[in-house]
Amino acid sequence: MDCVFCKIIAGQIPCDKVYENGAVLAFLDIAPISRGHVLVVPKLHFQDLAATPAETVSAMMDALQVIAPAVLRVTHAPAFNVGINNGAAAGQIVMHTHFHLIPRIDGDGLQSWPHQRYGPEESAGLAKDIAAALR
Ligand code: 5GP
Ligand code: ZN
Repeated sequence: MDCVFCKIIAGQIPCDKVYENGAVLAFLDIAPISRGHVLVVPKLHFQDLAATPAETVSAMMDALQVIAPAVLRVTHAPAFNVGINNGAAAGQIVMHTHFHLIPRIDGDGLQSWPHQRYGPEESAGLAKDIAAALR
């Protein structure tokens, strides 16, 4: 399969590995948003979060919780963001589901997304529609 993360997992492409268990591999992002930016990747290929079984998502999150304190200790960052670019329109480039663990420090200049405002009644209607779609 022509998937860069599958090739890394298979050992066909090198990576700077930080953690591995039976289900998950974690390694440094080759083009980090901040120093210590780690990718947490399931060893089996799933295209995106919706395609990833709950037990695998759980294994990814368990690994993230183990890895994050070590990353913070080593990078001296007090905080981190967890990111998932889910789908091409959200910026997913590698179509093998993964979490980004991005260390953050005060004043690092990494901007968060701008907020918008709902119109009158708009949020109530939207929440109802989403709740109905879940049924
Ligand atoms: P996405 O935009 O799909 O959520 O993020 C994919 C990430 O994978 C990017 O941040 C990119 O820098 C990283 N990446 C792409 N190719 C490689 C690679 O060959 N090795 C490593 N370590 N990271 C990669
Ligand atoms: Zn893959």
